[in-house]
Amino acid sequence: MTQSDNLAFDAAHLWHPYSSVTQPPLLHEVVSASGVYLNLADGRRVIDGMSSWWSAIHGYNHPRLNQAAKDQIDKMAHVMFGGLTHDPAVSLARRLIDLTDPALDYVFLADTGSVSVEVAIKMALQYWIAQGKSQRHTLLTVRGGYHGDTFGAMSVCDPVNGMHSHFSGVLAKQIFAPPPQCGSDEDWHERDIEPVRALIAQHHDTMAAVIIEPLVQGAGGMRFYSAHYLKALRQLCDEYGLLLIFDEIATGFGRTGHLFAYQAADVVPDILCLGKALTGGYMTLAATLCSQQVATGISADGQGVLMHGPTFMGNPLACRVACESIDLLLASDWQQSVQSISAQLQSDLAPLAKQDLVKDVRVKGAIGVVELTVPLDPHMDWLPAFIVDQGVWIRPFRHLIYIMPPYIINTQQLRVLTHAIAQIVAAVSEKESST
Ligand SMILES: *Cc1c(COP(=O)(O)O)cnc(C)c1O
Repeated sequence: MTQSDNLAFDAAHLWHPYSSVTQPPLLHEVVSASGVYLNLADGRRVIDGMSSWWSAIHGYNHPRLNQAAKDQIDKMAHVMFGGLTHDPAVSLARRLIDLTDPALDYVFLADTGSVSVEVAIKMALQYWIAQGKSQRHTLLTVRGGYHGDTFGAMSVCDPVNGMHSHFSGVLAKQIFAPPPQCGSDEDWHERDIEPVRALIAQHHDTMAAVIIEPLVQGAGGMRFYSAHYLKALRQLCDEYGLLLIFDEIATGFGRTGHLFAYQAADVVPDILCLGKALTGGYMTLAATLCSQQVATGISADGQGVLMHGPTFMGNPLACRVACESIDLLLASDWQQSVQSISAQLQSDLAPLAKQDLVKDVRVKGAIGVVELTVPLDPHMDWLPAFIVDQGVWIRPFRHLIYIMPPYIINTQQLRVLTHAIAQIVAAVSEKESST
């Protein structure tokens, strides 16, 4: 098969994320990847600014992760988790319990981030059912969030830029507060939490839990907010007896500068979702951790069982690679790497803030965001090819050009990425002014 055969077959038969088959997206074919580079079928290589959606924190084709996968595949790639267990799952659970707060004591190994959110929601709902309070089944969240694409997860995504309009009438009705307003700890003011307090005071009798992405709202808009907000949320949940769910699928494993974003706020959730970087980007795996209170509460009458059990639960291959990825992360000076990336993103991107087309430039940990005053969707017919021509892989969406590179990226490679962002801004400005 030649490259063009693959692209033609793909355009005729394959779905891509959020795509149409009648107007198939412009694609680039990747044949291999190594370090921070994606190697394209046309012979070019590009620096990956996306870490394959937050996941490839150690870069691609890492010898230790490769070896872990090879060692495990020669033992067993998979066995069912019903009635069986194995060292990769136990070892991973040990690591997750050690790394997170002592209060988080139980681990559910899910197969994708969205499923880990479904499991978190089921944990919360089943907890209240077992307490004889099945009327407590709604969730409160903030607008601007993203929690995944399955139905339960979609119900707590932003109701406007999420997919609610496509599925109205089918999605569970949840309670939405305005998004956090205080972008940083310095800006924090108690009034930021007041709308949440009012909604909880009004609806707590029917509410099971609050769910939120701590510190960083990712795919819903790449917005950062104050850690004080999380402290205030925890207090409110305690006051009204609500469970608190943190979705750290994007922020987990060091991305914000903290191993987990909740540690910046020094508050502990009752339920924690992890995914994306869990396997260092090697394969799909996620986890839902919960407290003793939630875990044993679900079985309050000695009868309740958590009603979830995917076929590929606890996949040994994924768990073994996840263990290796975690060990690799902890043995590295990841704080220093994230800190240097952060400082360079700050200094390289800050000058862009002066451009007319740029609404905001913001950096948190190893995440850099340039928000434009115009949406990029009208430019998506030429932009992906233009971006690859700059020697980088960046995937803008809505008004946002953003990167979250692998932690192993060096100064020169990161400069190529930030320079490309400047080129994108310039090219979009030119097109906008000529229309
Ligand atoms: C990506 C993401 C999800 C969904 O994870 P999938 O593995 O794509 O199902 C959920 N929550 C957050 C915060 C995410 O970034």
